[in-house]
Amino acid sequence: MKLILLGAPGAGKGTQAEILAKRLAIPTISTGQILRAAVKNETPVGQLAKSYLDAGELVPDEVIIGIMRERLTEADCQNGYILDGMPRTMTQAMALEAGGIEIDTSLAIEISDQEIIDRISGRRFCPECGETYHTISAPPKVEGVCDVCGTELATRKDDAPETVRNRLRVYHEETEPLKDFYRSRCELLTVDNQPSIEETTKVIYEALGIWT
Ligand code: AMP
Repeated sequence: MKLILLGAPGAGKGTQAEILAKRLAIPTISTGQILRAAVKNETPVGQLAKSYLDAGELVPDEVIIGIMRERLTEADCQNGYILDGMPRTMTQAMALEAGGIEIDTSLAIEISDQEIIDRISGRRFCPECGETYHTISAPPKVEGVCDVCGTELATRKDDAPETVRNRLRVYHEETEPLKDFYRSRCELLTVDNQPSIEETTKVIYEALGIWT
């Protein structure tokens, strides 16, 4: 299965993609995660991408298309994958199509801008192992400390309120039109964000017609 998750930044795509990936036994490919790792490791892509990430702007299409081209040919992608955070522009969507990649299903998680702003303020991540948390919906066992490796948790730089507003603007302008694009190409399922991660997973499973 080749599945695309669409939704505003902070809609919970990453969290739900990880849950779905385990359930469907296919990998999640998150361009945001790949880019953050590249920035941390100071690779050439990371050096190029850093200022875009910090400002909440989109990294140029050709960089993203290059990353995806490389990643999607790896062995673990043979039985399908979940794309989280890519495509984000029409050019990226067209590049996937031109590369012969046929998406089976796209799923959009709907959430209001105000909920996003409230929710993102609680997001934390582990700068060492990358595990993600939320102060209210997915807190670590010990406040401020990673359950997995014990490192002090941090806030993503691009989760600062003014950057979030910019990311939402970019989302509405560049990425939201992809819903119509995928509606015309494959099925587009939409689910409303729910109060908890578990409830959102449940409506996603129902929409996809899979059992918990
Ligand atoms: P995310 O973790 O998906 O919210 O992505 C974090 C940041 O990485 C975004 O705000 C962009 O700066 C960059 N990014 C991730 N995926 C893409 C993409 N497909 N196209 C352009 N920029 C991206």
